[in-house]
Amino acid sequence: MTGRDERKTSGELFARARKVMVGGVSSPVRAFAAVGGTPIFIARGKGAHVWSVEGKRYIDYVCSWGPLIAGHSHPKVLAAAASALEFGASFGAPTEGELKLAEKVCAHMPSVEKLRFVSSGTEAAMSALRLARASTRRDKFLKFEGCYHGHADAFLTEAGSGLATLDVASSAGVTRSVAEDTVTVPYNDREALEGAFASHRGELAAVIVEPVAGNMGVVPPQAGFLEAARELCDRDGALLIFDEVITGFRVSPGGAQAVSGVRPDITCLGKIVGGGFPLGAYGGPREVMSLVAPEGPVYQAGTLSGNPVAAAAGHATISLMERRGAYELLDATAARLEQALRAEAEAAGVALTTNRVGSMLGLFFAPGRVGDFAGAKRTDRARFAEFHRAMLEEGVYLPPSPFETLFVSTAHAEADVDKTAAAARRAFQRLGKKGSR
Ligand SMILES: *Cc1c(COP(=O)(O)O)cnc(C)c1O
Repeated sequence: MTGRDERKTSGELFARARKVMVGGVSSPVRAFAAVGGTPIFIARGKGAHVWSVEGKRYIDYVCSWGPLIAGHSHPKVLAAAASALEFGASFGAPTEGELKLAEKVCAHMPSVEKLRFVSSGTEAAMSALRLARASTRRDKFLKFEGCYHGHADAFLTEAGSGLATLDVASSAGVTRSVAEDTVTVPYNDREALEGAFASHRGELAAVIVEPVAGNMGVVPPQAGFLEAARELCDRDGALLIFDEVITGFRVSPGGAQAVSGVRPDITCLGKIVGGGFPLGAYGGPREVMSLVAPEGPVYQAGTLSGNPVAAAAGHATISLMERRGAYELLDATAARLEQALRAEAEAAGVALTTNRVGSMLGLFFAPGRVGDFAGAKRTDRARFAEFHRAMLEEGVYLPPSPFETLFVSTAHAEADVDKTAAAARRAFQRLGKKGSR
């Protein structure tokens, strides 16, 4: 083999991947359909950076879509995973490692008295819904437009307009009867939520919500929104499920429930809790969780659930975030990034709206406020795509969709932010020249 054969490009690998992998990827958004161009094949990551197979370095604001809050290849996380791995990859039996992680999660989240580990956020949300239905003996549940709770059938519904309309499935293969049990209303819309409870009195098993929305860009809950959901659930006997798959250990050690002071009945976790490995969890009060097998009649199981390598990585990651000043550092870095991007956009005459909650940052190419999915969809997605491509050229790896959040890690230094700002200046100038559309 010559050196030429061994030097691979993302383009070549993507062409090969498309022959044997659907869309060339293992998860759709990775294919760059929303921004155009060829996805970058990543060779390695360290700290705030990833390197493509071509050897180009990028400042990374995807961070594996959230899990890597301490940055890529953190020595403490890798060491914990490696030492767990030395004893074996999986046993399908209880281990002390998963117990230690469970104790840590429960200590940080008082609403989680007992939990069950699963292997993904999808499984956590799917199982939480089954549990809520069993607990209330009700079938329907309510979700908010633009919130993502993984790809289980029940959650794959898009918003119908108006008040608490019964939804249609937004994925092929989801049956009408499943979609009919999903009630959808706009995020941050208390009146619509009240209306849904009024027209489905005694019918809703649960309200599931991202307590900070991170799958329509970043959309924070307006004051009183989560409180209203809590109160309406209590009044009607429905359970409140916080999907903290992103926000758990991201916005604070106790998640968004600690920040908002609103206590959910069931919490879904994923991403950070596995430290970059496949792990999720759902948990809540003892009485509710005791409905899950083997204590109760709700069946839910998993061959690799509570995997010891993933549990060790999650435990190490959360331990790093327990260090004094970790969240203050994240917040300061993300604030610096937000301010710099706003300033550069303004200087270039580009209309940019930013929504930030701690180290979650959403960029919307539109003037004014974005408070729900409809607002996020009205922003200029073509401009986002152009910006994304320009930033890639500059060596900055942004999430390849305007409906995702930028994640800042504790590994992002001021110098990374300053380089990002300089890159954005040039990218915005190019957009500015083309004028607004
Ligand atoms: C990522 C995500 C999920 C799904 O988690 P997977 O591990 O991708 O299955 C669920 N809910 C929210 C809020 C997420 O961001």
